[in-house]
Amino acid sequence: MTTSGQQAKVTERQARQVAEAARETDWKKPSFAKELFLGRFRLDLVHPHPVGDPVGIERGEKFLAQLRAFCETAIDPYQIEREDRIPDRVVQGLRDLGAFGMKIPTEYGGLGLSQVYYNKACALAGSMHPTLSTLLSAHQSIGVPQPIKMFGTEEQKKTWLPRSAKQVTAFLLTEADVGSDPARMGATAVPDGDDYILNGVKLWTTNGVVADLLVVMALVPRSEGHRGGISAFVVEAAAPGVVVENRNSFMGLRGIENGVTRFTDVRLPKANLIGKEGQGLKIALSTLNVGRLSVPAVCTGTAKWCLKIAREWTRERVQWGKRVGDHEAVAGKVAFIAATAYALEAVTDLSSEMADEDRNDIRIEAALAKLYASEMAWLVADELVQIRGGRGFETAESQAARGERGVPAEQMLRDMRINRIFEGSTEIMHLLIAREAVDAHLSVAGDIIDPEVELKAKARAAGKAGVFYAKWLPKLVAGKGQAPRSFAEFGPLAAHLRFVERSSRKLARSTFYGMSRWQGKLEYKQRFLGRIVDIGAELFAISAVCVRAQRDPEGGSAAELADAFCQQARVRVEALFSELWTNSDDSDRTLAHRVLADRYTWLEEGVLDPSIEGPWIAENRADEVKENVHRPIP
Ligand SMILES: Cc1cc2nc3c(=O)[nH]c(=O)nc-3n(C[C@H](O)[C@H](O)[C@H](O)COP(=O)(O)OP(=O)(O)OC[C@H]3O[C@@H](n4cnc5c(N)ncnc54)[C@H](O)[C@@H]3O)c2cc1C
Repeated sequence: MTTSGQQAKVTERQARQVAEAARETDWKKPSFAKELFLGRFRLDLVHPHPVGDPVGIERGEKFLAQLRAFCETAIDPYQIEREDRIPDRVVQGLRDLGAFGMKIPTEYGGLGLSQVYYNKACALAGSMHPTLSTLLSAHQSIGVPQPIKMFGTEEQKKTWLPRSAKQVTAFLLTEADVGSDPARMGATAVPDGDDYILNGVKLWTTNGVVADLLVVMALVPRSEGHRGGISAFVVEAAAPGVVVENRNSFMGLRGIENGVTRFTDVRLPKANLIGKEGQGLKIALSTLNVGRLSVPAVCTGTAKWCLKIAREWTRERVQWGKRVGDHEAVAGKVAFIAATAYALEAVTDLSSEMADEDRNDIRIEAALAKLYASEMAWLVADELVQIRGGRGFETAESQAARGERGVPAEQMLRDMRINRIFEGSTEIMHLLIAREAVDAHLSVAGDIIDPEVELKAKARAAGKAGVFYAKWLPKLVAGKGQAPRSFAEFGPLAAHLRFVERSSRKLARSTFYGMSRWQGKLEYKQRFLGRIVDIGAELFAISAVCVRAQRDPEGGSAAELADAFCQQARVRVEALFSELWTNSDDSDRTLAHRVLADRYTWLEEGVLDPSIEGPWIAENRADEVKENVHRPIP
């Protein structure tokens, strides 16, 4: 596939500059996670656990009850899987419930739910079939309502929010050549009098096949009176020149209405520009700051379902004279699933409550939650498949056809896989979070390591950095985590919080050692930085779990789960700390370089490659002139 519009030729440095320009640099509110990376364990920022207001809770619970009743009675998950489509009557039912306007304020025709209840609704619908939560969250977490709510003028809110409460919307950033690197953006919006003319092709547009409204990112060329840059526009899907050329299908999420949308000379009134020219990526990133919390919410729902199935199955299934759950190898998996389900809920709820409370800046917590939950839910789903044995690999419908209970374990595994890729892939989340984790260092020592900074400025920066580190480093030597009775109000969990405090200082020291050792090259040590971030994610999860267990009505049994999770997480943290310095990163980089230089192609002999050009490909390729497959839901 080709993209129309000019494809930018972009160097690594330019790509970085675009990402850096889109970054929010202000920290007006405290950040628990940012402090954690700096060696300062600010438990007071998350403890006591924030709780929503009673009116919001009542409203949220009422809606959840309605949604649950609807999902249980009106949705056939097998049908979605079989027909690769959410039936129109289901979409209509969700619309009638107000599910498309969950996060839209009531004055604009929405339900005005909190982030907490929006997430719980996504988790509930997603546990019935993850495509349902994808429909809802692509529309509300990243589609038209969220950026309009955050950045739209009053006029834009009045125009689009009431419509968004009833209609499906989509978010279109990605292009064939623009994935994690928006600097290569090919779509253009060229000023023409008071309008813009949009051209380009967008790929993997979740909801795009059925959407009524789209948010489209396109490059406005710089010209007189136009500062230009990547900008965000609201586009009517039915406007002349908008064509959905393909409906894509995937390894999972069957039924998502994800397409390829081509824009040919689409006229956009100026009123459709969100924010200002050049603010598109900032808007997208800010929208995602909280918007991406629906991913951990859905992962949490899946982990909870996996726990239920794991419990029921490993208790019922007997092999070698024992329940399979009593064999130690399987017991370890059950324990992992149970502890992780508890932790994912703790992380998601804490982050969501913090988003509603709005006392802290939660951009790092939300990113950590997305990263951690998507990775862990994948492992959980994989362990469930293993525990279910052959049935884990068999489709639910096939099991049901044989007269057994149809358990969609393989489907959950397939459906969970995408969470590690979209809304910021794991690798990109590592970079994004690491950038914030090392920000304190870059702000004091950045000029020393920046190759473009002159010697004089470097010397000045060195002086400034010396003063900062002389004060900061001694603070990392000792802390509350070494006092045997600190955090005593947490009872048996206090030891885990002491571990977090000690590890937070160790993490900051390790980051500093990395910075001193590699200096400007640190940004290329992606695996080192990835481990730094992963340690931070585990420490955040341990903190969330301990704080949650304190207020959990389940009391003792919650504390058991919390304790089990902390023990498991601590083993992972210790391993990650050790891998910071003992690893095969250097030899792996050399090996990968050699692979890319075709040194080992002999190893690929003896197999066939079904992806290379063959008659089966030609037969399946669509005609050059593509039909519009846009299918708005009646
Ligand atoms: C089912 C589905 C739904 C989607 N929905 C939407 C949607 O609604 N709207 C939308 O705009 N997009 C959507 N996407 C696109 C999705 O967000 C992208 O797939 C994602 O951003 C990754 O981009 P890419 O696939 O081009 O991978 P690439 O950017 O080409 O990356 C390939 C690999 O390299 C890694 N990588 C890339 N850059 C770096 C780097 N600098 N350092 C280290 N590693 C790197 C990536 O993590 C990945 O592993 C969807 C995709 C799918 C499959």
